Amino acid sequence: MNSIEEFYSKQKPDNYFQNLIKDLSELNKKLNAFNNINLKANKNFLFSVKDNICVKNIETTAGSKILEGYIPPFNATVVERMFLNNFEFLGKTHMDEFGFGTFGLNSEQIPKNPFNNQYVTGGSSSGASIATSILKYHIALAESTGGSISAPAAFCGVVGFTPTYGAISRYGLIDYANSLDKIGIIARSSNDIKSVFNIIKGPDNYDSTCIDINKKNNEIKNNKQNTIFIINQITDLIDEQVKSSFSKLISKLENMGFNIKYIDFDFLDKAIPTYYIISMAEASTNLAKYTGFKYGLKNNDFSKFYNDFFINSRADFRLESKRRIILGTFVRNASVKNKYYHKALKVRGFLINKIKDILKQGFILSPTMPILTPKIEDVSKLSPLQNYGTDVLTIPPNLCGFPHISFPYDYINELPLGAQLITDHFNDFMLFDFVEKWEKEFKYKFKYNLGSL
Ligand code: GLN
Repeated sequence: MNSIEEFYSKQKPDNYFQNLIKDLSELNKKLNAFNNINLKANKNFLFSVKDNICVKNIETTAGSKILEGYIPPFNATVVERMFLNNFEFLGKTHMDEFGFGTFGLNSEQIPKNPFNNQYVTGGSSSGASIATSILKYHIALAESTGGSISAPAAFCGVVGFTPTYGAISRYGLIDYANSLDKIGIIARSSNDIKSVFNIIKGPDNYDSTCIDINKKNNEIKNNKQNTIFIINQITDLIDEQVKSSFSKLISKLENMGFNIKYIDFDFLDKAIPTYYIISMAEASTNLAKYTGFKYGLKNNDFSKFYNDFFINSRADFRLESKRRIILGTFVRNASVKNKYYHKALKVRGFLINKIKDILKQGFILSPTMPILTPKIEDVSKLSPLQNYGTDVLTIPPNLCGFPHISFPYDYINELPLGAQLITDHFNDFMLFDFVEKWEKEFKYKFKYNLGSL
């Protein structure tokens, strides 16, 4: 039974929803999971929506001051499909501005890890992961461009699924980098994710990149489904405690009957520069529309000169967004684009083929993050390059559009650790089968269970 069936099968006390919303609003003041909460929720299984996915008549800002006050007149396709299946909207969740970030700190209100408030939640889907970690019956719609589902899912001790690129419609998503963005799902079990994926996936007339993965099924041959590859080169990238905890996971999987194989892959270090060139190029293009005319309306003072007007209307971007606008505009500049942007596209193609060769033979598994959950104060001291460097394991599957899932596998100092499993395009369902087996062996821990029955 998944938690949706469990929720409907149980008797609810009077004022169940009122009390739940009250407790959630109270805890939210401490953790900053939600930008807004639907105080009227009173009936069905609840779902939250990352703040870059449009919900009709609800303020949607992609975590940015630039979009403050934007009320979409329509629902994103994923939201529409949730409503059609009787899910109830709970609120918009916190995120790094426009999805730029790995720790949730690129925002006004700092989100706090539910296991320990001094630690980061991960980002950019920070709020979606906190919400899942504190609510017993709930599903989060989130989004990943380069790891924004895996990273916070790992740090908050929940399951985070990023589908094959194109498996879920992006209509109604505020774009970060169109060739990389994927809407995905965060939940407390693989079974919950599977139910919701079945509802929201599939072609959409409003998104021409959206495909039917069932028609493209690419399943790894039966005899390879038990094979898990570990890339030798990750050992140099992950810290000691993560390494020893991950090796315990490998032994457990061996005991469960999986066939573990070690393999060399010399190109891991190519993924980060390739990703940041492509994602910044696309981001700078997407952010160009917030000029204060049609989008990002800030002031209506048209008496100003050209430069003064734009300096004023675009001043509210945070530092990281400005950095990406400048670098992204640079890499696609005519004089250097062959050297950076076009080269990055070629490297992406190369990496897809190389990784696919491995995925035809089995899964790839690694820790989700190379480090233990860091303290908020420690991340604030990292340089932008150190920040980007922590994406080393989450970027490869995202850059190549491969489906992947992060699941909790250990707790150190009462903080969760996540592992990330990757499979070939269109094999999304095989990830759920694997994690379901894992969940029979390992019980996830949560600090809060708001709404538990
Ligand atoms: N850390 C990555 C970035 O800042 C991931 C972002 C994402 O997936 N939205 O680009």
